[in-house]
Amino acid sequence: MAMISNQLPTDELQALDAAHHMHPFTHGGELAQKGARVITRADGVWLNDSDGNRILDAMAGLWCVNIGYGRSELAQAAARQMEELPYYNTFFQTTHVPAIALSQKLAELAPDGFNQVFFAGSGSEANDTNLRMVRTYWAAKGQPERNVVISRWNAYHGSSVGSGSLGGMKGMHMQGGLPIPDIHHIDQPDWWSEGGDMTPEAFGLERARQLETAIKELGPERVAAFIAEPIQGAGGVIIPPDSYWPEVQRIVDKYGILLIADEVICGFGRTGNWFGSQTVNIRPHIMTVAKGLSSGYQPIGGSIVCDEVAEVINSVEFNHGYTYSGHPVACAVALENLRILEDEQIVQRVATETGPYLKEKFEALADHPLVGEARIVGLMGSLALTPDKKTRAAFEADAGTVGFICRERCFANNLVMRHVGDRMIISPPLVISKDEIDILIERARKSLDECLERLKADGLMKTRVAS
Ligand SMILES: *Cc1c(COP(=O)(O)O)cnc(C)c1O
Repeated sequence: MAMISNQLPTDELQALDAAHHMHPFTHGGELAQKGARVITRADGVWLNDSDGNRILDAMAGLWCVNIGYGRSELAQAAARQMEELPYYNTFFQTTHVPAIALSQKLAELAPDGFNQVFFAGSGSEANDTNLRMVRTYWAAKGQPERNVVISRWNAYHGSSVGSGSLGGMKGMHMQGGLPIPDIHHIDQPDWWSEGGDMTPEAFGLERARQLETAIKELGPERVAAFIAEPIQGAGGVIIPPDSYWPEVQRIVDKYGILLIADEVICGFGRTGNWFGSQTVNIRPHIMTVAKGLSSGYQPIGGSIVCDEVAEVINSVEFNHGYTYSGHPVACAVALENLRILEDEQIVQRVATETGPYLKEKFEALADHPLVGEARIVGLMGSLALTPDKKTRAAFEADAGTVGFICRERCFANNLVMRHVGDRMIISPPLVISKDEIDILIERARKSLDECLERLKADGLMKTRVAS
C-alpha cells in the first residue's frame, strides 16, 4: 500500500513543503524561511508533531474537531461507505441513503420550522449557495430588485469570491477584486475595541441600529438579507453586548428581510446549544453549517433552510450545486459524528459541566497584567491584550505584533492558541476534560507571563496615542 512517509527528518519535510506546497492565509516566502511545523498524529485534544512534541490543541484544528481527534468510529463509517457507494451525484433526479439520512437528522436537530438542507463541500460554498438562494427567493416572489445583502466588517463567511465578499475582512477585500457588487457592510458589535465611552448596552443598540440605517439608506425594497455569525469567530471571538441581537431581530422582522445565521463555528455545540442562534435567541431563515458538522473528519457544509424559504426555492429550478453536494462519504461521517455528539451528550456537557468550568478559569485570566478582558461563551473565548486595562488602549506597535509574540510563547509551551490582532482566542474540542482545561489554563498563564517579560524587555508595553 502506498503510504506518505512520516519517517523523513523534519527539515527534509519542511524543505519539500516549502518547495511545493502553497499554504492558505500565509506569506509563503516567510514560512519557507522558517519551516512549517509538521503535525503527524492526534488523539483527543492532543497533537503530535514530527519533533515528538505533544501539543494541546485549544483551537480544535480550525474550530472544527468538536468530538476530538482519533475517533475510529468515523474512520469506519467512511470505510464502510466507500466500499458500498463511494460517490454518486444528487443532481439528476437521484439520491442516496447517506444524504437522505443526514438531511433528516439535521432537520430533527435544528429548531422547529427547519426541514430542508442544501449540501455543499465547505462553509464558503454554503454561503455562496445562500447568496444565490436569497436572491433567487426574492426573484421568485416577484421582487428581483431585492438583491443587496448586508453583512458586517470583520465578519468571516469564507474565502471564495462570493463568501469572501460577504465577509468583512479588509485584508481579503484588498486582494483579487472583492467585494462583488450589492454587498453592504455595517460595523461590528466589538465593544472592547470600538465602544469608546459608551456602555456595552448602549453600544450594542447603536451597532444594531446601523442595520436599520443601512436598510433605509439602501431602500427597504432593495435589501434581501442580513448575514451574521451569532458570535464572530475568526474576527476574534467577538461576543456582542446583550442588547445587540434582540434589536437586530426587531429590525429584521420590521423590514421583512431574511436573516442568515452563519453557524459554521457556533453550530453543533460550540456555544452550549446545538446552534448559536439558540444561544443568542434569534430566528434565522437560513443557517450555514460546516466545520463541526463532521468534526472536520470530512469536508462538508450546508444550508439548513426554513420552510418558508424552502417552499419558494422548491417552486423554481434552482440552477446551483456542487459535484460533491451531499457527498455520500462525507454525509456518512457527519452522521456518525452527530450520533457521537448525541449519545455521549457532549453538547449538554458543554452547557452544564465543561463550559462553566472553563468559564470560571478562563475569566480568572483577566487578573493578568496583560489581559484587559476575558470573555467566553460555551467553549469559544477571547482574551483582549492591552498595555492599559483602564482605557482599553491598543498597543503602540502595529496590531497583531503582541498577539503574535504571545502565540509564539504558547507554541513554545505546547499550547495552540490563535491570535487575531492582539486578541488571543480559544475554541478547544468539545470533549476536553476538566484536567485538560487545567493544563490549558496553566499553559496560557505561563505564556502570558513570558509574553509580558518579552514586551517589557523589548519596550513594547506602550500605549498607542490616538491620532
Ligand atoms: C470557517 C468559516 C467559514 C468558511 O468555511 P470553509 O469550510 O473554510 O469554507 C464560513 N463561516 C464561518 C463563520 C467560518 O468560521
